[in-house]
Amino acid sequence: MSGPRYHRTRAQDQRLVGFECTDCGWVAYPDERRTCKSCGAAPAEFEEVALATRGEIQTFVVQQYLPDDIETPQPVAVVDLPQVDGEGEAARVYGLLTESSLEEIDVGTEVDARFREMFADGTRPVNSFKFSVPRADKAGDGGDGE
Ligand SMILES: [Zn+2]
Repeated sequence: MSGPRYHRTRAQDQRLVGFECTDCGWVAYPDERRTCKSCGAAPAEFEEVALATRGEIQTFVVQQYLPDDIETPQPVAVVDLPQVDGEGEAARVYGLLTESSLEEIDVGTEVDARFREMFADGTRPVNSFKFSVPRADKAGDGGDGE
């Protein structure tokens, strides 16, 4: 109900922060974990790492059968977001692909994470990110190979 609290958390919600296991280097996103899903360290120690907003599609599915009020086809991708400093493991995350045609999406395609209002939760918007093929790359496309 109160506006100020929402504004205080907004900046945090719009940074991409991952948590790197200090034992094995696996990166959790979005939440810091008590147990590392990769090496099993428990309690696991994690360090905060900044993630790039551009990543690469590892795999994707195109959802065709969804409830009537959801637009289809709806592509959802698993994307590796590298760390901003270029070192360490990427965070593997998933999200909706928007503003992109199905023809330009493939494994290996670079996409940008864009923040969007997903839906309104009663009185306040719930923000998350979606992935899109960068516009500059769309214009300069052509070296796609086979
Ligand atoms: Zn670990």
